[in-house]
Amino acid sequence: MSQSTSTIRTGTPPVFAGIDVGGTTIKLALVSDHGQLMATEHFATEDELGVPDAVSRMRRGLERLCATANLNFSDIAAIGLGTPGTMDIPNGLILEPPNLPGWKNFPIVEHLQQACDNKLVAFANDAGAAAYGEFWVGSGQIHDSIVMFTLGTGVGGGIILHGKSVDGGHSHGSEFGHILIDSGPQARLCSCGQRGHLEAYASATAVVKRAQEQLQAGRPSSLNARLQGGESLSALMVAEEADKNDSFCLDLIDETAYFLALGIVSVVNIIDPECVILGGAMNFGGQKSPLGRRFLKQIQDSFCKHTFPVLAENTEICFATLGGDAGFIGAAGVARSAFYKQASPLGTSAENPDLSNEER
Ligand SMILES: [Zn+2]
Repeated sequence: MSQSTSTIRTGTPPVFAGIDVGGTTIKLALVSDHGQLMATEHFATEDELGVPDAVSRMRRGLERLCATANLNFSDIAAIGLGTPGTMDIPNGLILEPPNLPGWKNFPIVEHLQQACDNKLVAFANDAGAAAYGEFWVGSGQIHDSIVMFTLGTGVGGGIILHGKSVDGGHSHGSEFGHILIDSGPQARLCSCGQRGHLEAYASATAVVKRAQEQLQAGRPSSLNARLQGGESLSALMVAEEADKNDSFCLDLIDETAYFLALGIVSVVNIIDPECVILGGAMNFGGQKSPLGRRFLKQIQDSFCKHTFPVLAENTEICFATLGGDAGFIGAAGVARSAFYKQASPLGTSAENPDLSNEER
């Protein structure tokens, strides 16, 4: 098993552990009461070994993090666990995550709790945890209500409404990838089996599919030379050629921005967040790159055309700032929120971090 540990800073209790489970990697972190990263580690998920094995590796990983941060395991006040859906958050169950085929229908929260000396374990959808991370100490930290779209192989989402993560009645509360944007019979097929969903148009997978279709139809592009050279088409390759001003790739990215804006309009009309945060790997370079800023501007322009003037004027749309750290920082933040709620169940104390921005 390969693992990598790094210490960023030492701190004083209470500290919170954040665990971000992905299909290939499990990332762990210790995070201070103020959202500062204290130590991180990651190792291969190896989902075929089963959940109990992963849970015991999580426990050992947290012990190593405590040692590198000069803390005792008992200093961890609560643990936040983010996993891909599907899941049953109130009952602590992982159901059928498509990218963790060995992890079906398992009471993961109960097992993690038992493995970690019965500490409080807060459970979250991985995209919801990332949204909480951006809300707590990232792009959304000055806001009270945010939504986050995660753009990668699929399209995920998270909603933080007045400081609370919205999970819904069936732990399915923010599946932005499955917003219906085309109800026609020829609408694109989504990974979920339905047609016309945002993910079928605006994910990295969809960018590749749309590119392939148009290249096969004869659209000229500098992509052709790379494909003939044996490379596999990817959204990153589209970004690289767009960076070199290939008009076909620029069109693909502009179309992606348009589709994404349709999804954003739907979410904003329902939630009315102060800020829409774009996270995930498919950001076309993000804020630091001209291509990323062009992508963002196209989204903002399309959004403004399709929504109410008051929302067009006042809704911020921006890139995430925590990158791949958002999931475990947010998981730790969800744990912190649950910890203070447990300490102050009436929610009237200033200790309750859900009640005010100042407490974040
Ligand atoms: Zn779908």
